Amino acid sequence: MEDLARLGIRTVGDLLLHYPRDYFDARHVTRIGDLKAGETATVVGTVRTIGERKLRGRKSMVSALLEDETGGVALVWFNQPWVKGKIARGDRLRAIGAVTRFQGRLQLSPSEFDVTQDDGDGGPATMLPIYPLTENVTQKALRSWTRAALDRLEPVDDPLPADLREQHGLPPLGTAIADLHWPESPIARDRARRRFAWEELFWWELRLALKAIERRRPESGIAMATEGEIVPRVGKALPFTLTRAQRRTLSEIYRDMRSTRPMNRLLQGDVGSGKTVVALLALLRAIESGYQGALMAPTEILAEQHARTIGRLLGDAPVDAALLTGSVGGRTRARIAAGLAEGAIDIAIGTHALIQEGVEFRRLGLAIIDEQHRFGVAQRLALTRKGAVPDVLVMTATPIPRSLALTFYGDLDVSRIDEMPPGRKPVATRVLGERQRERLYAFLAERLAAGEQGYVVYPLIEESEAVDLKDATSGYEALAARFPKARVALLHGRVASDEKDRIMRAFAAGEIDVLVATTVIEVGVDVANATFMVVEHAERFGLSQLHQLRGRVGRGEKSAYCFLVISDGAGAHARERARVLAATHDGFVIAEEDFRLRGQGDVFGTRQHGAPDFRIADLERDIDLLTAARDAAFDLVDADPTLERPDHAPIRRWLERLAEKDADLARQG
Ligand code: ADP
Ligand code: MG
Repeated sequence: MEDLARLGIRTVGDLLLHYPRDYFDARHVTRIGDLKAGETATVVGTVRTIGERKLRGRKSMVSALLEDETGGVALVWFNQPWVKGKIARGDRLRAIGAVTRFQGRLQLSPSEFDVTQDDGDGGPATMLPIYPLTENVTQKALRSWTRAALDRLEPVDDPLPADLREQHGLPPLGTAIADLHWPESPIARDRARRRFAWEELFWWELRLALKAIERRRPESGIAMATEGEIVPRVGKALPFTLTRAQRRTLSEIYRDMRSTRPMNRLLQGDVGSGKTVVALLALLRAIESGYQGALMAPTEILAEQHARTIGRLLGDAPVDAALLTGSVGGRTRARIAAGLAEGAIDIAIGTHALIQEGVEFRRLGLAIIDEQHRFGVAQRLALTRKGAVPDVLVMTATPIPRSLALTFYGDLDVSRIDEMPPGRKPVATRVLGERQRERLYAFLAERLAAGEQGYVVYPLIEESEAVDLKDATSGYEALAARFPKARVALLHGRVASDEKDRIMRAFAAGEIDVLVATTVIEVGVDVANATFMVVEHAERFGLSQLHQLRGRVGRGEKSAYCFLVISDGAGAHARERARVLAATHDGFVIAEEDFRLRGQGDVFGTRQHGAPDFRIADLERDIDLLTAARDAAFDLVDADPTLERPDHAPIRRWLERLAEKDADLARQG
């Protein structure tokens, strides 16, 4: 029982929710004589020989010769020495895996295999489930238990109403469970899988929809509808004209601001797409309507930069903006706090300091949060609690793929600045190997001689912090030796934060020529004179991360360059991957590619806390299902916001069960 508990199985219900992770298609066993390289096949045969070999570099290989009446094939397992203990000569073995040709002969690398007494495990010749296992729980036992459980299954209450199922072509729960474990055919299995994937996404989206409706109660927000003189005045004085995308997103924001429904909007825009001016024009509309605005950035440097930019764009418009960060102290801090409380200050720009105790706004109408993924949701809420129910705009440069935006921010409306200001020169991007380092340095010498600056970035992975630090330190020393006249500085995670700020400021002021950094350079820092970005061990960064890094240069008039240095041992695919960057500057294309290559966790650098952990649904493959499930959930909540209709009772009960489960999980930590 304890063994089963490790798999999360305590009841028959749990057993039936222990989904197979794959199937042997027992109806399509390929005769060994008919195997072809390049296909994935199920084979059944007798083990004739089995052995293990050590390979170079502490690697090992187990191989077995499997024969049926038509021939023999080598089964090979790399670095899974335990396999040898599971199989003996003479066993009847079933295996599924990819067939390849090696030194002229076919071999099969099993992704799954099992030892069998007869070919069907007593069942009809059909699809055989392959379950995730744990110690002392065999495939065979799980199969017989699920069979028995399904045979005895009482009719089950389906949480999905029949009309919803029909509308989306989903089989009833009982059928779906049976077909998921013991499908008659791949079609039946796919139908079952589709139901569970749809359902998983539906429950997630339904909860988002319920949250969204609660917040969007039309009367709870502020209507900021006054069109005054400040917006046109600042708009006219801008040193550029807004792009179409900026105007479109701004009108979406204004529409939300005019409404009494509180705004909850995500503003996505690639680095350099011009989010700041959109934010400013939104803040000004709040001021015209008699409210205050706040702009919160994740670091002091970014807050200062916003304050400078906004100060410049405001010119002599009658608007009072103040900067409030952790390092603003004493009398100034008290004066700003008083100004915000009295309403004398119109715009507060700052860091976390804005949400600390003692900072009160007289009438906060709009809260803008820059680079959202660096803030927790709790902080987002803390700022929004500082007013009636202010409008909230979250800005991010992380080009979140559509599927992720829908799941993570399903409760936010999304605006996208999908167009760059005119005249931007793309950053020339090159993928290099170690061999080209001397040429790279010669090129950097030219840039430096021309008075330009740049970055050299090293990866930092926590587990090997010491190694990475050494790497960056020796890289820094090598650069300093190679360019004796240049002012080279090193920035890493162990540099104290005021020292870090000092170095960043010196770099921005042109007092440092080359900044060697292990930490990702503050997202959003703008240094127009920085023209080159060198990324060492580029293979260790995600594509989106590389794109963000590249966005640090090319922010001025001068031509800019990005060099992705791939380590020698990294393999050819690392270069291929990096070349995506050379081919496009579209952050969304890059993010989709990154997502495809590395999965959702890495789009953000690390896995997000509270991200949905779907068991069957796959955000990439099931994007259409996600959209359908989302529409269904939001329609349902629109039609019946409190789920009080009798036919929605099963839905309500299921949500309550999910909530209990969450509470259980939270208690277990
Ligand atoms: P981000 O979206 O990365 O925050 P910024 O708001 O910092 O981008 O804008 C990047 C640069 O582009 C700034 O120097 C800004 O002045 C400039 N900019 C913004 N909008 C336009 C525009 N419509 N035309 C030309 N330049 C623009
Ligand atoms: Mg920005």
